[in-house]
Amino acid sequence: MTVPTITLNDGHEIPQLGFGVFQVDPDETERIVTDALEAGYRHIDTAAIYGNEVGVGKAIEKSGIARDELFITTKLWNSDQGTQSAHDAIDLSLAKLGLDSVDLYLIHWPSPHRDLYVESWLALEEIQAAGKATSIGVSNFQVPHLEKIIAASSTVPAVNQIELHPEFQQAEVSAFARENGIHIEAWGPLGQGKYDLFGNPAIVEAAAQTGKSPAQVVIRWHLQAGRILFPKSNSAARIAENFDVFDFELSDAQVASIDALEADNRVGANPDTATF
Ligand code: NAD
Repeated sequence: MTVPTITLNDGHEIPQLGFGVFQVDPDETERIVTDALEAGYRHIDTAAIYGNEVGVGKAIEKSGIARDELFITTKLWNSDQGTQSAHDAIDLSLAKLGLDSVDLYLIHWPSPHRDLYVESWLALEEIQAAGKATSIGVSNFQVPHLEKIIAASSTVPAVNQIELHPEFQQAEVSAFARENGIHIEAWGPLGQGKYDLFGNPAIVEAAAQTGKSPAQVVIRWHLQAGRILFPKSNSAARIAENFDVFDFELSDAQVASIDALEADNRVGANPDTATF
């Protein structure tokens, strides 16, 4: 199974479908990431705050898969924003992962109440220049946050990783990203299981028509929109199911019926007002 790659604005390639480990128990991470690597995933999305970088690193090491066949993302946590603290944070993440560099390093949230995201972005440029991150990007940035870092630096973020699923499609940030060469990574691509996405008639109908599961239909909807995503599951069967999405296509009508589900239904924190 070959996962399509997307070329980022710095020329580097990222596998469009990966595996995310938010809320994966640190004690189970090695086993679960091993399941994902065995299912064929080569792109893993973790973060310092998830507390499971050590488990991700152990699974990578045990797999014997060549480093250049893997794409590993981690993220700078909010309380580590700032110049020196960002440099210290990437060193700690790399030590936990057992890697010399990550493929992508992200500022996890703009955390505007700290007012350190511009300074942190300049630190990420230095981290990239030092070879500790091949690509750099941001997460949960709204348009004004993106405008501010683009104006203050010489690097346009390679990606913006944002909450995005059928009932919360982020039209404004997505349009800005498209116009500025920033790729969107969808977090919570399945709505984090927080609303009945898989029982929605549009999804159920597309699943019946294609002979695939509702989760596979939603993953396919993201892929056909050109987004990068890394759905999470603790179950080996679902991990494999979520990867088995390259043998079918949604029709324009099926895509339109899912596009029509926009409901401004944010299931996570609002980046402008989050206080963590
Ligand atoms: P998700 O939308 O991937 O939903 C995960 C949940 O969906 C699972 O817990 C499971 O209950 C269910 N599920 C998964 N596969 C299924 C299947 N085939 N059938 C039925 N149910 C299924 O949510 P997520 O984990 O929050 O998002 C994916 C990844 O995005 C995370 O693991 C993490 O890497 C990243 N993320 C980033 C941020 C951020 O702030 N940058 C925030 C949240 C998540």
